[in-house]
Amino acid sequence: MSNQYAFFQGKIVPIEAAKVSIMNHALNYGTGAFGGMRAYWNDTDEELYLFRPYDHFRRLLISAKMLMIDLPYTEEELTNITIQLLQKEGFRQDTYLRPLVYKSAEVIGVKLHDLPGDFAMFAVPFGGYVSNEEGTRVGFSSWRRISDNTIPARGKFTGAYINSAFIKTEAMLNGFDEALVIDESGHVAEGSAENVFIIRDGKAITPPVNANILEGITRRTVMQLLREDMGVVVEERPIDRTEFWVCDEAFFCGTGVQIAAITEVDRRPVGKGVMGPVVRELRDLYFGVVRGQNPKYKSQWSLPVYATVPQPIPMAK
Ligand code: PMP
Repeated sequence: MSNQYAFFQGKIVPIEAAKVSIMNHALNYGTGAFGGMRAYWNDTDEELYLFRPYDHFRRLLISAKMLMIDLPYTEEELTNITIQLLQKEGFRQDTYLRPLVYKSAEVIGVKLHDLPGDFAMFAVPFGGYVSNEEGTRVGFSSWRRISDNTIPARGKFTGAYINSAFIKTEAMLNGFDEALVIDESGHVAEGSAENVFIIRDGKAITPPVNANILEGITRRTVMQLLREDMGVVVEERPIDRTEFWVCDEAFFCGTGVQIAAITEVDRRPVGKGVMGPVVRELRDLYFGVVRGQNPKYKSQWSLPVYATVPQPIPMAK
């Protein structure tokens, strides 16, 4: 089943009608920002559950603010638009949502100020993201992660993803599934499009938010699940490359990748070279949570798409 609609220029339109000009500022200069959200199909409930939409839209609005794009929608209104789009598509399978904010001006000139911006979104049926979620083989990239003083990684800017594309393609051409990347300080930042954790001596460790990472919603989810549901201590501190050679377990997390065990780094086994017990337990817990099967988190984080009564879409102010 493929997607038929998009939210574009203030309303839901057929996907073929959602097109920008070749003069579009964001196309020319990368002056856009995007999100990536998932909705999970729950067979028992016959319901599609949208995972943490308010948090995803809050982050999108922060990226928009950094780009000086003043959107006419709140995170509640953006969530309402998402419900309408998904209801119109009628998917009964796992779905990925791509909200976008972008400079809609059709002018020559690199800048951020005094340019109109807009919001658009589409949804596609979607499964896995990396080919081997249970045993991801990773190489350290020869690229460096963009830094806060060049292109801030905490904004999810379209133009910034050329850095991720260089990282991912180099890794795959070298025969890896994914890459890890260090920043200019020499510490580990993240993967090409996912946050990273290691397990060392029973503790979970992840780079802090000022380590040139995207502040992932999954990272935040995982930190809570580890602490509250698994009783694992979580530390945010800089991580060295060689800690991946000596740690017990490691994993990527993100909306796309979900939870993927890292079993090899720089052609060396991580721990025993297979998915370890902490990552296995976390994955099981995570998939239950996102699919709306965990009573503790269901009402808090999962919005039922078909049971929600949509509100009228506000006119752009
Ligand atoms: N880092 C980068 C660079 C990403 O692109 C993503 C995916 N959005 C993540 C981390 C994970 O973020 P999230 O958990 O919010 O999807």
